[in-house]
Amino acid sequence: MSSILLRSSRFRQLGAQFYSEVAAEPLPEPMLIAWNGELATSLGLPSDAGSVPGLADAFVGNQAIAAESPVATVYSGHQFGVWAGQLGDGRAMLLGELAGQEIQLKGAGQTPYSRRADGRAVLRSSIREYLCSEAMYGLGIPTTRALALVGSPEAVWRETRETAAVVTRVAPSFLRFGHFEHFYYQGNHAALKALADFAITHYFPHHQEAANPYQAMLDEVIERTAELIADWQAVGFCHGVMNTDNMSLLGLTIDYGPFGFLDGFDAGHICNHSDHSGRYAYGMQPEIGLFNLNCLAQSLLPLLDRDEAIAALKRYQGEFETALADRLRAKLGLQLEDANDWQLFTRLFELMQPGHADWTIFWRALCRFDTAGLNEPIRDLFVDREAFDAWAWDYKARLTLEGRDQEQRQTAMLAVNPKYVLRNHLAEQAIRQAKAGDFSEVVRLQLLLKQPFDEQPEFEAYAGLPPDWASELSVSCSS
Ligand code: AMP
Ligand code: MG
Repeated sequence: MSSILLRSSRFRQLGAQFYSEVAAEPLPEPMLIAWNGELATSLGLPSDAGSVPGLADAFVGNQAIAAESPVATVYSGHQFGVWAGQLGDGRAMLLGELAGQEIQLKGAGQTPYSRRADGRAVLRSSIREYLCSEAMYGLGIPTTRALALVGSPEAVWRETRETAAVVTRVAPSFLRFGHFEHFYYQGNHAALKALADFAITHYFPHHQEAANPYQAMLDEVIERTAELIADWQAVGFCHGVMNTDNMSLLGLTIDYGPFGFLDGFDAGHICNHSDHSGRYAYGMQPEIGLFNLNCLAQSLLPLLDRDEAIAALKRYQGEFETALADRLRAKLGLQLEDANDWQLFTRLFELMQPGHADWTIFWRALCRFDTAGLNEPIRDLFVDREAFDAWAWDYKARLTLEGRDQEQRQTAMLAVNPKYVLRNHLAEQAIRQAKAGDFSEVVRLQLLLKQPFDEQPEFEAYAGLPPDWASELSVSCSS
C-alpha cells in the first residue's frame, strides 16, 4: 500500500479554527465493491484495482495513506429554510490531495460534528452516491466524483439493521455555502475573510485583481449555481436536500442523498420522502438556488458593498433563464433564439404535466422528430394528442424556419438528450443485488451511465419506463 501517498490537504493551511483532526474508525472485513479506474488514472493511481493490494483497507479508512491525520471541517447552514447553527463534516473526512484534488472519505466514522449520529453511511446510500456522481459526470454536469466504494459487514442501524460502506469522494474543493455562514453568524469576520481569501487564492485566482475580489467571486458563484440548476432542470435531476450546507461554492452537485431523476414529468415532483412541504420539489429548485445564494451573499456582506451584492443577486433569475433556455433549445435541436421560445417551452411542459409523460423517454424520442412525418411514437406519449399536434405544428415551423439539415439536427439532439439516467429503480436493483452479495449490477450501471448519450442495445431495458414497483420506492435523508 505504500505506493499511495496523499499530499497534505490545502484546507489545513486555514488553521485549526476551520477543522478538527480526526481518525477514521476501522471497519471489519472491508471489501472493494467498485473502483473508478478512469478517475484513478487521472489522479495518478492504478486503474486496475487488482494490481494494488490493500485498496479496500486504504479507502475504508483502516490504513493511513497520508502523512497527516484526516480532518473534518466545520460549517453551518440553513436547513429547510431555517438556520440550523453548527453542522460540519459529521461523517466525512478529508484525507489529503492527489493531483490537486481533495480526497474525502464519507462514512468512515464519527467526528466532533457528528452530533448524536454514528458517522457512518449505509451500503444503500453509498451505492446511490457512487453511481450518481459518476452518472452526473457522464451527463456533463458539474459534480463531486466518486473514486471507490468499499463495503463492510459492520451493522449500521437506520430504520432497520443495514451494513456500512464508505465512498471516496473527489473534488477540487468541498467548500460549501455553509462554511461562510458559519463564521459570519459567529461574528468572526477575521475568519470569514481568511476563508474567502483562501477560496479566491485557490479556486478563483482570476478574480484576485478585481476591484472587489469577494464580489467577483460571489458573481461567479451566482453564475455557476444558475448554470448548475439549469443543468439539473434540463436532465430532470432533483437534488432533494438543497440546504445551504449542501451547496458547493464551486457550483458542483454535492451530497447525494434522497436525489431522484424524473420518471414522468411532474413539476411538483418531490424525491425526498422527508420533504413534507415540497420545499425541494423539482420545480422549486431554481428558486431555492436563489434563497441559498441570498444566504451566501448575506454571509459575505462584511466583505461586500451591499448594493453591489443585491444587484448581483438580482441577476440570478435572468442568468438561470438564459442558461435553461440554452439547454432547452439544444434539447429541441434549435439553434436560433426566438421571441416565442419560452412559450414553446412552457406549452410543452403544460402538455407533459397531466399525463406525466416520461421526461427522458420523451426527449430521446423527440430526437427522431420528422418534419415530414406523423411522429406517432412521440405523439403517443401524451394524453392530449390534439394539443400535442398543435405544439408539434409550431415546433415544426421553427425547425423549418431554421432550415437545418434533419440528420444533422437529430445527431445534435442525440448528443444532449440522454438515453440512460440513474432512475430510482435501476439504483434499487443494484442495491438489492449488492445486499445479497452480488455487486455486478453496480459495476454494470457505472459502465452504462458513463456513456448516457450512446445507444447501448444490450441495455435497452434500462432505457424503458420504470416498472410499477418503482412508484413505491421512497428515499429519505436517513442514509
Ligand atoms: P445531510 O443532510 O446528509 O447533508 O447531513 C446534514 C448534516 O448531518 C451534516 O453535517 C452531516 O455530516 C450530518 N450527518 C448526516 N448523517 C450523519 C451520520 N450518520 N453521522 C454523522 N453525521 C451525519
Ligand atoms: Mg450534507
